[in-house]
Amino acid sequence: MTFDPLMLFHLGAALVCFVLGAVVGSFVNVCIYRLPWQKSILWPGSHCPRCLRPIAARDNLPIVGWIALGGKCRGCGLSISPRYPLIEALVGALFALAYSSFVVYGGYRLLEPAAFLRAGYHAILIVLLVIATFIDYDYYLIPDSVTVTGMVLGLGLGTLFPGVRPEPVGAATALEGLTQGLLGWAVGGGVVWVVRWLGGLVFRREAMGFGDVTLLAMIGSFLGWQAALLTFFLAPFFGLAHVLVRLCRLAAQRLLRRPPTGADREIPFGPYLSLAALTLMLGWPWIWPGWAKRLFQMLGEISGIFS
Ligand SMILES: [Zn+2]
Repeated sequence: MTFDPLMLFHLGAALVCFVLGAVVGSFVNVCIYRLPWQKSILWPGSHCPRCLRPIAARDNLPIVGWIALGGKCRGCGLSISPRYPLIEALVGALFALAYSSFVVYGGYRLLEPAAFLRAGYHAILIVLLVIATFIDYDYYLIPDSVTVTGMVLGLGLGTLFPGVRPEPVGAATALEGLTQGLLGWAVGGGVVWVVRWLGGLVFRREAMGFGDVTLLAMIGSFLGWQAALLTFFLAPFFGLAHVLVRLCRLAAQRLLRRPPTGADREIPFGPYLSLAALTLMLGWPWIWPGWAKRLFQMLGEISGIFS
């Protein structure tokens, strides 16, 4: 194996991003735990829910803190869910991937500040999507405090730094940046809203929650309308595995002659919208030039024929 100092540098930097992401991940845990209850995310500090013992700074270290405690509270021995360190590791891994996609393979010169700006911009969306995913998974809701904050950030940062979004939504001026953001916001929110409305007409029940409308509007305001549209069509494929598990359970209940409960019929869509958005976002340097660009050109030509 040849020694490549540049590769070594990128590996080191990706590791730094992982650690940074894990630290942010412990804040993400606090948000997932407190936002559905509209509790403050800043005060009070983390404490054990049973013995109320505050969690010491050394035990609060992401991932390693949980391992050192053996997954139990130091005061009363209440077990702490492994989901906490797993979410910290997940955010860490996603931050490292964002570094790889936007700094290493983003088409920038080495250490160009714009590359880090672009990675940071997408890291904010990563944080919002992970928070939305786990709250939606737990409670079948996505708080506006996540999505509205995200819309403001996506639109605002895209206006302040017009070049922060990659092709085809990169902009040269603040006005262009704002326009791209608003277009993404409208298409993202609009497509879910229309399908939700049609679903209501056909099935006479809520097909998708309003939280999904605001979630894809937020994704669109960050990533632009093309990525928002692709997210919407990719998400059901990610949800398919979840649907199959549910169908097996329903079939088992039918065999056992147990009446199905309402919860067995519902599947949160937010986690799969988030998963699709993350996949497209991190794969964008390959997906856009690889096939998405041609797809949208073709759609443009088709709509040109009919217009
Ligand atoms: Zn305790």
